[in-house]
Amino acid sequence: MRQTVFLSSPEVWQRGHGSDHPLKPERLQRTHELLAEYGAFEAPNVRLMAPRPATKAELLLFHTTEYVDVVRALSEGDSALPAWRYGFGPGDNPIFEGMFDSEGLKVGSAIQAAELLLTNECDVAFSYSGGLHHGGPALASGFCVFNDAAVAIQWLLEQRQRVAYVDIDVHHGDGVQDAFYDSDRVLTISLHQDPRTLFPGTGFVHETGAGRGEGYCVNIPLPPYTDDERYLWAFREIVLPLLNRFTADVVVTQLGVDTHIQDPLANLALTTEGQSALFSTLAELAPKWLALGGGGYAMDVVPRAWTLALGLMAGIHWPEELPPGYQARYGGRWLHDREAVLLEERLRQQVGVRVEEVVATLKQIQKLG
Ligand SMILES: [Zn+2]
Repeated sequence: MRQTVFLSSPEVWQRGHGSDHPLKPERLQRTHELLAEYGAFEAPNVRLMAPRPATKAELLLFHTTEYVDVVRALSEGDSALPAWRYGFGPGDNPIFEGMFDSEGLKVGSAIQAAELLLTNECDVAFSYSGGLHHGGPALASGFCVFNDAAVAIQWLLEQRQRVAYVDIDVHHGDGVQDAFYDSDRVLTISLHQDPRTLFPGTGFVHETGAGRGEGYCVNIPLPPYTDDERYLWAFREIVLPLLNRFTADVVVTQLGVDTHIQDPLANLALTTEGQSALFSTLAELAPKWLALGGGGYAMDVVPRAWTLALGLMAGIHWPEELPPGYQARYGGRWLHDREAVLLEERLRQQVGVRVEEVVATLKQIQKLG
C-alpha cells in the first residue's frame, strides 16, 4: 500500500486570485472538501499535512533576488514599482493582497512534499495547490507567480536526485522546460494542446533541449479535440519508454486537469475516464512520486478529477455517488463523467492522423523502436 501525503490547509485557498479570475481558490477548497467527505484523510495510508511557507533561500533556487523582493513589495501594496516589467497587471496576473504569502506557501508545499519523499515518510506526496509551471525566474506568467515545480526540481537536484518531470496540463510547461533546457539530469516531458492554438505558444516537437540537455526535453503537442483514446495512446507510445529508459529517482508530475472537454480555457476532449487512466499509469511508473496540481477551470470537474487522482495514488476506490453534503452544496451526483465524448467521425480521423504524425516524429527524434 502506497503511503500517501496530501498537502492542504485552509491557508491555500483563503487568499488568491479572486473569484473573478479563472484560477479561483475555491477549486482547492472544493477538492479538499470532497476528499474529506469521502473520508480520505481517515484512510490508514493517507496523511493530511498542512504546508509550510518557502524560505527566501528556497525561492532563490529558481527565482532572482530582485523578483522575490518585488513580489513581496507588490504584495504589500507598493505602487511605485513597474509591475508590468515582471509580468503583473490586470488580466492574467493581477497583484492581490497577501500574494507573497499565498504563492510562497505553494512553493513551500512542493519542497515539503519532496522532503517527505526523500526521508521515506511517504511514496507519493500530492501538493495540489501548485504546478505553477509558467513562472519564470523574474516573471509572472499564465496565473503563475512562483514556479513551485522548478524550485522543487532544483531542490531535488541538490539532493543528488535524478528527476523526470511529466506535465499533463493542457498548456505547455514552458517555465519548467526553460529552467532545465541544458541539463541531462532532468528529463522534461510535456503533453499539451498544439501551441499554434493555445497559450503560451511554445512546446513544439523540435524543442528538444540544448548542449548536454539535448534530447532531455520532450514535447508532445496534440491537436484540439484529442480524446481519451488518442491521448492515452500517445502517452503510452512516448512517455512510457522514455521514463523506463531514463530511470529517475523521483518523478515529478504536473497534474493539470484542463485537458477535460468541459474546460472553458482550452480545447482537448478528455473525460475523467481518460484522466484516471493517466493517473493510474503514472502511479505504476513513479518510484517516488511528487505530484503537483496545475490548471483546470471547470469548477465541476477539478475536485472530481483530483479526488480520483488521490484515490489512484493511495489505492482507494471511492463510491461513485458523491457524498450527500457535497452534492447539496455544489450540485452534481456522480464522481465520474456520465457522458462520453462523441466526436464527428471526420474530425476524429483528422485528430488521429495528426497524433500519429507527432508520435512518429518523436519516435524518430528519440530513437524509440
Ligand atoms: Zn493549464
